[in-house]
Amino acid sequence: MTGFVHDALPMRVVFGPGAVERVAEEVDRLGLRRVLVLSTARQGALAALVTDLLAQRAAGTFDGARMHVPTATVAAAQDVAAAVGADGCLAIGGGSTIGLAKALSLRLGLPSVVVPTTYAGSEMTPVWGLTEDGRKTTGRDPVVLPRSVVYDPDLTHVLPAAVSGASGLNAIAHAVEALYAPNGTPVISALAERGVRDLATALPRVVADGSDGEARSLALEGAWLCGACLGATTMGLHHKLCHVLGGMLDLPHAETHGIVLPHVAAFNLPAAPDADAVLRRALGADDVPAALRSLAAAVGVPDGLQALGVRHEDLARVSDEVLAAPYSNPVVPARADLEGILEAAWRGSR
Ligand code: NAD
Repeated sequence: MTGFVHDALPMRVVFGPGAVERVAEEVDRLGLRRVLVLSTARQGALAALVTDLLAQRAAGTFDGARMHVPTATVAAAQDVAAAVGADGCLAIGGGSTIGLAKALSLRLGLPSVVVPTTYAGSEMTPVWGLTEDGRKTTGRDPVVLPRSVVYDPDLTHVLPAAVSGASGLNAIAHAVEALYAPNGTPVISALAERGVRDLATALPRVVADGSDGEARSLALEGAWLCGACLGATTMGLHHKLCHVLGGMLDLPHAETHGIVLPHVAAFNLPAAPDADAVLRRALGADDVPAALRSLAAAVGVPDGLQALGVRHEDLARVSDEVLAAPYSNPVVPARADLEGILEAAWRGSR
């Protein structure tokens, strides 16, 4: 690394067991009086919990958040926000729910307080996504960055083992790609190293015992740090591949990341020796792709894209779309390289 520009994003984080009790304080700090509570249908109990805590500050609830932020869902949430006169929102849940809060920030300018309950990291980024007619559009806008993030590990005890493991690998992928990003800085490298170490230590324990409070705290801390890496840098081949795979074949987001990551790492790290050195330290291993493979196996990430129902004949279309779009990466893969990565990820050769 010879020179760099470090342009930090604003970040307010309230972290700790029981931190959810402080949501009303965070809403007051922003001067909000009528907050719309957002969740998925399955996280209704979490929505009820924060609604109680917010008392008169909760103007209404919208529990229709869905994966990939469909524009119809956003329109429905906008109607509710208008009907209750919302001046902000509080999202509680994973990347899908936080994605809906971002869409409302983008369209209505509503500031958000978010309470993440998975390890996806979206809360730390100014990146939004919207899906219409099966096509996902993404963009960056500082207006969508949550104004306050409340991390409460106690809320993650019930996050199922499979979701925890895959979502944790998703977070690690942000840090891996930040380490070889063109806009990486020493601050980002430090966050990435600590985030990967936290998650690699915590995830096997979380999967073995979801109520291990210390491991849940460590995993959520790792997710925060890795999410901050994502927010500050430009992602490479791994995120491009997962974006195309997810969008084209409607695959589960976190599992796709968990499966693909070791294969892209095996391709990229020989061309990114500094990133490799940081990851070797963070993982306590000499062979980073092998360590990522065994971590994915240990935390129950499905073995190969074929286990997600991907057909072998779909892989060529994925390569075509990845080759057609520009993205930054330490080394530009030729078609044969991409096909090799996809073949290995499809077979699940771990
Ligand atoms: P998600 O929000 O869909 O949640 C995954 C599953 O976990 C869901 O079934 C949800 O109901 C369940 N869940 C969430 N919290 C729970 C809890 N506490 N207890 C029990 N179950 C719980 O998925 P995700 O992996 O968190 O996020 C993925 C989405 O986020 C994708 O759409 C992805 O594109 C987006 N994302 C965006 C960014 C960004 O910067 N914009 C970054 C990462 C991910």
